[in-house]
Amino acid sequence: MRTPPAQTPVNARPGLATPLQYLKGIGPKRAELLARKGLVTVADALWFVPLRHEDRTRFTPLAALREGHAETASGVVVAVSPPPRGRPGAPGVVTLRDDSGFGNVVFFRGAWITRVFARGQRLVVHGRAGRYKGAPVVQHPDWEIVEAGDDERVHTGRFVPVYSTTEGLGQRLLRSLMWRIVDSFAGEVVEILPDAMRARHRLGGLSQATRDFHFPAGEEARDAARRRLVFDEFLLLQLGFAILRSRVARTRGLVMDPPGELVARLRASLPWSLTGAQERVWGEIRHDMASAAPMHRLLQGDVGSGKTVIAALAALTAIEAGYQAAVMAPTEILAEQHAMTFRQLLSPLGVPVTLLTSSVSSRERAQRRAALASGDIRCAVGTHALVQEGVEFERLGLAIVDEQHRFGVEQRARLKALGGEPDVLVMTATPIPRTLALTLHGDLDVSVLDELPPGRTPVTTRARTEARRSGVYDFIRREVGAGRQAYVVYPLVEESEALDLKAATDMARHLAGDVFPELTVGLLHGRLKYDEKEAIMRRFKAGEIRILVSTTVIEVGIDVPNASVMLIEHAERFGLAQLHQLRGRVGRGPWRSYGILMTGTRLSEDAQRRIDAMVSTTDGFRIAEADLQIRGPGDFFGTRQSGLPEFRVADLLRDAVVLEEARREAQAIVARDAELRDPAHRGLRHQLVQRWRGKLALASVG
Ligand code: ADP
Ligand code: MG
Repeated sequence: MRTPPAQTPVNARPGLATPLQYLKGIGPKRAELLARKGLVTVADALWFVPLRHEDRTRFTPLAALREGHAETASGVVVAVSPPPRGRPGAPGVVTLRDDSGFGNVVFFRGAWITRVFARGQRLVVHGRAGRYKGAPVVQHPDWEIVEAGDDERVHTGRFVPVYSTTEGLGQRLLRSLMWRIVDSFAGEVVEILPDAMRARHRLGGLSQATRDFHFPAGEEARDAARRRLVFDEFLLLQLGFAILRSRVARTRGLVMDPPGELVARLRASLPWSLTGAQERVWGEIRHDMASAAPMHRLLQGDVGSGKTVIAALAALTAIEAGYQAAVMAPTEILAEQHAMTFRQLLSPLGVPVTLLTSSVSSRERAQRRAALASGDIRCAVGTHALVQEGVEFERLGLAIVDEQHRFGVEQRARLKALGGEPDVLVMTATPIPRTLALTLHGDLDVSVLDELPPGRTPVTTRARTEARRSGVYDFIRREVGAGRQAYVVYPLVEESEALDLKAATDMARHLAGDVFPELTVGLLHGRLKYDEKEAIMRRFKAGEIRILVSTTVIEVGIDVPNASVMLIEHAERFGLAQLHQLRGRVGRGPWRSYGILMTGTRLSEDAQRRIDAMVSTTDGFRIAEADLQIRGPGDFFGTRQSGLPEFRVADLLRDAVVLEEARREAQAIVARDAELRDPAHRGLRHQLVQRWRGKLALASVG
């Protein structure tokens, strides 16, 4: 939290840290309103991002409004016509006049307009032009009453910033305050970029950019200001990453370079050989593990690309070298599934795998923790809590993190607290676009599994509604008749696990009793005990259970190549990444496989886009991009839990080019000046300390 200076004498030379309430014309009441917008200090205000700018140098003549365009127009109010009596929900119309003639502004549910508008006022409106009673009109616009004697420099006759307002803090008041703040303080903003760097990237000064970001002379100045601020945001992030990476490269970690006997035995036991991509990636990982610098590597690969076996090879290498390996998953269920998979791979080699989650009884857990600390347990699988709770290892050599976007820089740093400098392998099934990878994982080396095991045919995906349910069942019956197996998945809605469970239970009973009486139907859900889940999965894997009804517990990890149908109920309730993960459970064998998305008939626009994306592609990369477009980066990652930095100005989708520039610059800086001790980097260093707070542990600015 910000701490305002204990006492700011009113007449002291104010600085950027000055609480806004001490500024002339603000006071405690308005300060409180501003604080609701997150604006506490002058610096906050300077960084307050306008929603947009309006070009109020040239208004669209009222006679020339173009239907379908976003228009800014201005005129004098000549008539205010509220909706007819008794129909407050009907539109109200304000008629304006300008040099070109007359034009109407329509407000939906316009009963209030007589309280606000009056003849003779000058109004600026901004909104989409539509058609009303045969003529083009501005519909439900943003509006502003421009008063006579108004400060022309601020509200009109220029490029005008429009901010997000709040009750009691209208657009004009806010803009006036911003004008005063920018006018008085932008000059105090200190440059942080060396001149040469600014010249290289044709970037203006920070002080000017701050000014132009709010009150630019025109579009060009606004864009230049924006680009400068975006560059700074990216540079600070990438500098942090570059510093972390360079520290890792200079650190002495563990050398794990055993003869590879366990690895050879696992490989010999597999019924297939590694794909070219797996060989390459395994080579990269083995090289990292053998070298003295700690590994910090991201293993990225689509669902079904074969990440698990790579992780197992790495774990065996650490174990053979005399160290312990830990596998960490974001949820208990995933941890349990990883435990099962790892057991299948490692137990035959005489390497036991131990599960460590809160589902294990506390006495048992205490024993297992003790065994980890003494070194009796060589391979542990658990949730991220393994790190968070500071479980002790005797000699942790390798931490494998199944990431799901929730394991950020901070958690990775905490791994070190487990002792030594373990190698870290982060796995992710979401093939994210490069800009995002650089933003989220900029401190990691990246390996990509860009090849699926041979013989996979893309899953055929169809969307179906209730009307075709019996056809879907017939289809499943035919597939099972041909020897295959099927999944039926129910969404998990967090608020009501009990209801979901009931839905899944009822469905399993219905399918077993009424629809497929001749087949064995199994039910899997999160409330089952670990052993029960394992037993059901084993029976499904053995082909004894033909149809597995499940809540989303099977999202990741289940691997039954004989299954060829994935029926997803209420598919509109799932996120895209989840749908893609679920679909990835089929298409693992030589036969053709099917994803069937059951949906309601009326879908929200976003839900429809998700379903469309699923039907049109099986490429995880394209799914991720579609997801990103539908949700935006913040939601895509769940910013808060992911550690994905929040940018004020930068837009990861739009500003990819600037990101690359900033990244190269950051790498060049750190290559020459690893801890930013050069006085030329003083400003940057200062900003970095603030931006990364404790996470970077830069020695404080001297
Ligand atoms: P991921 O974890 O990347 O989603 P998995 O590791 O679960 O993928 O692998 C998916 C399936 O592919 C598993 O059945 C696995 O045994 C199989 N598999 C992995 N690598 C190969 C390979 N090189 N050739 C054939 N099958 C493979
Ligand atoms: Mg190493």
